[in-house]
Amino acid sequence: MSQLTLFDNGTHKNILLEDFDAGEGVQSNQHVIVDHRSAMILDPGGNKLYTRVFTAAAKAHRGAKLEYVFCSHQDPDIVAALNGWLMTTNATGLISELWRRFIPHFGSDKLVFSRVEGIPDAGMMLQLGESELMVIPAHFLHSCGNHHILDPVSKILYTGDLGASVGTDYRVVDDFDAHVEKMEGFHKRYMSSTAALRAWVAMVRPLDIETIAPQHGALFQGKEMVGRFLDWLDGLECGIDALPDLFQLPS
Ligand code: FE
Repeated sequence: MSQLTLFDNGTHKNILLEDFDAGEGVQSNQHVIVDHRSAMILDPGGNKLYTRVFTAAAKAHRGAKLEYVFCSHQDPDIVAALNGWLMTTNATGLISELWRRFIPHFGSDKLVFSRVEGIPDAGMMLQLGESELMVIPAHFLHSCGNHHILDPVSKILYTGDLGASVGTDYRVVDDFDAHVEKMEGFHKRYMSSTAALRAWVAMVRPLDIETIAPQHGALFQGKEMVGRFLDWLDGLECGIDALPDLFQLPS
């Protein structure tokens, strides 16, 4: 169980909590952003991880108050423990407005549910301490209500499931071509369509991004690697475009 500091300028830091064993669950990364005395956690994970992530996150943002628990979308490896986070902190939960009303099915207490806010489809600006983060739309990649976070201070783009890799034993991608096979199967089946990917790439391409940090697997660091990742996604056949024969009755 360890923490990796991705960025730290003294008043703003970005920490990756890594190597949590989810048992039979898929490996996941938890990210903490701290600005001055305010903190947030991104995609905090499921119940199996809750106690360990909570303890590690508290250590990572010691001295700052947890203001937000951000959920990129509704999957159980992201939101299953949201009730615990809201019960034990005064943080506000943030999730696409499409998914907000589904959260109580994970067992959210009536009292804490009032602190879950819906993120509009268009995304929004989010004040954290003295910095302003951008919550950007990433719908259909893979969830129909999906958002990413751009942190303009560290220049990290947090992409949830987009860019996720499985079966990696390295933290940062250094051989992109070799890394593709760790992402390909997941992206082809989970991402919804080539058009959605193209639109997303066109939206983020002009942004100043130094790191892309997915919720599973390895990070992309440096402008060149970020560019290679965007090039790979741009036009990737996936979802309905890669599976034209999906709707046939089983025999
Ligand atoms: Fe997901």
